[in-house]
Amino acid sequence: MPTFADRLKNVSVSASVAMTQKARELTAQGVKVISLSSGEPDFPTPPHAIAAAHAAALAGDTKYPAIEGTPALKMAIQRKFQRDNQLTYEPNQILVAGGGKQVIFNAMLATLNPGDEVVIPTPAWISYADIVKFAGGVPVPVPCSQANNFKLQPEDLNAAITPRTKWLLLNYPSNPTGSACSRAEMAAIAEVMLHHPEVWIMTDDMYEHLIYDGFEFCTIAAVEPRLYERTLTVNGVSKAYAMTGWRMGYCGGPQELIRAVSNVNTQNSGGVCTLTQAAATAVLNGPQELLAERAGVYQQRRDYVLGRLADIQGLSCHKPEGAFYLFPNIAEFIGRTSRGGRKIGNDTDFCMALMEEHHVATVQGAAYGLSPFVRLSYATSQAMLEQGCDRIAEFCAGLR
Ligand code: PLP
Repeated sequence: MPTFADRLKNVSVSASVAMTQKARELTAQGVKVISLSSGEPDFPTPPHAIAAAHAAALAGDTKYPAIEGTPALKMAIQRKFQRDNQLTYEPNQILVAGGGKQVIFNAMLATLNPGDEVVIPTPAWISYADIVKFAGGVPVPVPCSQANNFKLQPEDLNAAITPRTKWLLLNYPSNPTGSACSRAEMAAIAEVMLHHPEVWIMTDDMYEHLIYDGFEFCTIAAVEPRLYERTLTVNGVSKAYAMTGWRMGYCGGPQELIRAVSNVNTQNSGGVCTLTQAAATAVLNGPQELLAERAGVYQQRRDYVLGRLADIQGLSCHKPEGAFYLFPNIAEFIGRTSRGGRKIGNDTDFCMALMEEHHVATVQGAAYGLSPFVRLSYATSQAMLEQGCDRIAEFCAGLR
């Protein structure tokens, strides 16, 4: 039997995928599953993006794409960085790839030597650690506690940096906690990084536009211009414009880093689909009002679910500033038994029992590196949220 690469041993199937799979199985058996595990907006892609892709296809824009991004798209990204972040990137400092995920993957491949460390404030998006390991690096999680609203503390960051550290990876608003940093909090992180000039900084700003209560998003290269020369600012159209299926992410950064990442891009992708590039150009250049409108809807949902969780005895949940996730603490329920006789030894047991007995899909905090917590996504309709909350309340009430 032919064998597989050793590097695959480092890669796990993401827990949210496992939960989605379980939900599909139950659905196939005719069970109505309420999904609070999805990491994608339930809104449609804006019609002007679809129209632009359609027009591009009809116009014959169907040949190999510009790998680093079409001039029109790079110009739209340049304007976006200036408009939203007051960051100036020239076209040769901008790169597009097949989703933010591919941008991050290729940046790691372009920079990590075996054993290089990547500091990851944790809990964190499931893929970061796997991507780092895949690229030969070592993820270094820095625990960020509920008491600190899951935000990276400067002294913890400083303590985590070693001579092997290659990157600090930031993601505010965060998946899975929704926490975001104020300018002052970001400045304190930046201050630490000024003392570590050998370390690159990646900021994954995917949830930039999902921010509530007037909280002001900020990104590190704008907060501390002295870090601009070693910061890769990553973003995409998936979450902001509900374009998860189009697969387009982008980044701005110092020219040499962009060139290195671009070299990887040319070998592991033939570029982003031309129609997607046309659609992304249209949304980045088009009217931006929909961002605030949708954020308003998400905010109402966040408040609704937070209110419902507050009524459940034993749960505690912080109020996040952004993204579309809540991250309640379920410590009170550990050691109890469900009505169906399932012992709740950890958050994975909690999520599985909730799924099997009350058919609500969530993801255990363990998947993001912090237990005992549960990630709930409110990127779904109000009706689904109401039913989901009813079921969670019933499930928790039955834990003895
Ligand atoms: N970064 C974070 C923090 C995410 O949560 C996700 C998707 O869940 C991504 C990046 C991936 O985005 P994209 O669809 O652009 O690959």
